Amino acid sequence: MTKCVRGKANPTQPTKFRLWADSSGYCQNPDCQAPLFVDLKSGSAAHFGEVAHVIAASADGPRGDDTADEADLGAWDNLILLCANCHTIADKAPADHPIELLLEWKESRLRRVEASLGIASFATRAEACDAIEPYASQNRYLHATFGPDNDYRIDPEAEEAIVWQREMTDTIIPNHRRILRIIDANTAHLTHAEKETVAAYRVHIGGLIRRHHGDGGIRTVLFPREMDKIFADS
Ligand SMILES: [Zn+2]
Repeated sequence: MTKCVRGKANPTQPTKFRLWADSSGYCQNPDCQAPLFVDLKSGSAAHFGEVAHVIAASADGPRGDDTADEADLGAWDNLILLCANCHTIADKAPADHPIELLLEWKESRLRRVEASLGIASFATRAEACDAIEPYASQNRYLHATFGPDNDYRIDPEAEEAIVWQREMTDTIIPNHRRILRIIDANTAHLTHAEKETVAAYRVHIGGLIRRHHGDGGIRTVLFPREMDKIFADS
């Protein structure tokens, strides 16, 4: 009987891959975050990550629920990747590790990974605005300080021109890409007018990238000034 229950509650290979990807290779307990891979002297690596059930695979296990559907127990929603230590502790002290806590661990890791990649979907326009602001303000500062609107524009060998070229490829274009990723993950918050602004911005960035990565080309669309107010409260 137990074997049968366990069989259905076992995750599939794709589910395991997904859990490993979610974890980024670190225990999903935010107070632990132990690296799950260790380098061996032989040159290979070992891992001590374990797939843990939030609701146990059997009704009498940790956080068990005899009404739960067996197949649901082996689904991604009911699983979390922990280091061997945290898995043991969570299952030996289930009262201290309720369902909500384990799901919160998992959710917070997902949000942090997304945020580090600039792809978080935010609940409000204000949060999306805040996420963009550091990149936008850095670009505004660099443009004002070294941009082509400064006095040196007629001298392409001026120091500012060289700094501007370098900042463009190292900082400004990567910042634009981050901003676009944040916008693309939050299009639900855009007004109709803002969607048109973003379309122009995207064309502008495309031209910028081609021009500064040696593809020559001419300036296509100017930076739409309305971008400075994207996601801002009107
Ligand atoms: Zn751990």
